Amino acid sequence: MRIHNFNPGPSALPLAAKERAQREMLDIEGTGISILEHSHRERTYEAIHREAIALLRSYLQVPETHEIIFMQGGGRMQFAFVPLNMLKPGQSADYVITGAWAKQAYEEAQRVSALIGASVRKAGSTEVDGRFNRIPRNEELVLDPNAAYVHITTNNTIFGTQWHWLPETNAPLVADASSDIGTRSMDWKRFGLVYAGAQKNLGPAGVTVVIARKDWMREGRSDIPQIFQYRAYAESESLLNTPPVFAIYMVRNTVQELLAWGGLSAIEKESEEKARMIYDVIDSFPDFYRAPVEKESRSRVNIVFRLPTEELEKRFLSQAKERGFIGLKGHRSVGGIRASLYAALRKESAEALADFMEKFAKGH
Ligand SMILES: *Cc1c(COP(=O)(O)O)cnc(C)c1O
Repeated sequence: MRIHNFNPGPSALPLAAKERAQREMLDIEGTGISILEHSHRERTYEAIHREAIALLRSYLQVPETHEIIFMQGGGRMQFAFVPLNMLKPGQSADYVITGAWAKQAYEEAQRVSALIGASVRKAGSTEVDGRFNRIPRNEELVLDPNAAYVHITTNNTIFGTQWHWLPETNAPLVADASSDIGTRSMDWKRFGLVYAGAQKNLGPAGVTVVIARKDWMREGRSDIPQIFQYRAYAESESLLNTPPVFAIYMVRNTVQELLAWGGLSAIEKESEEKARMIYDVIDSFPDFYRAPVEKESRSRVNIVFRLPTEELEKRFLSQAKERGFIGLKGHRSVGGIRASLYAALRKESAEALADFMEKFAKGH
């Protein structure tokens, strides 16, 4: 049975990326040893490392104004890393709270700013009774014109909302793009720094991709431990210490395949189509499927919906599993169903799920 992997992260990888890893597992490029056994200071790995960065630059259409850095610690470590580097004593940063991850980024920034004599502000929040069903409009935001940066979460993985516009500000935007990087084009001019764990759209767990404007990153603090400075990673080409070599190798294989599928414009188009197929079924059966998210704020990568009863949701999940659809259970904090349609999930999988949803609704 074909498995359709809707896991929220780690998530589906291109078959060809895994097959290549399988082929090369015991002997990479005739060296007689595995990629797992190579030194990170030696030619075979260095070439893969540089290729991974070059392919990411090409795929994500990152201009030379921005640096691409590999780090560890996940998206979550960036919650602390960003204010530690980019907030100076006496400065303030704005945070827009649109979901659980955004809230944690804000809380972590509060801890860091208290430590360094800086501050963070809530520039807007769409929380109602502990839930977030939309992205705020620009006129709802109360932005500080002197903010060191404005932090947003481009896609809210748990609640299924996504920014389809950007806050109007002259401050650099900092974005947690963990769940939608690589599924749509970005206006890099607006972003001082973007971060994402690789495990949703770009590869396996273990490596975090940070894309930072070079001149802005250089303004970051240099009086903190070197291992906590972005510039130390940038200046060493992300080889300050041993990087997660296998994760970066898999990012190389994954992005190479996404480029072979037509690159970002093709994946973005596919992403719109995949989402439309699922939302179309939800909207065609309004008495059966209920999407809590405001239409203008709907995410194209995490589609969240409910069925009339929890009993039916259980039946939906178990019948889905029998047909090879996995990873559809909503986040434990909100329940319901969530279909995650990341970059490497093929259109056929979304099509098959939409078909199953339609039959399930008609049958119940
Ligand atoms: C998954 C996710 C995170 C957490 O990432 P880790 O790599 O597990 O730290 C943070 N933010 C968003 C938006 C996410 O989707």
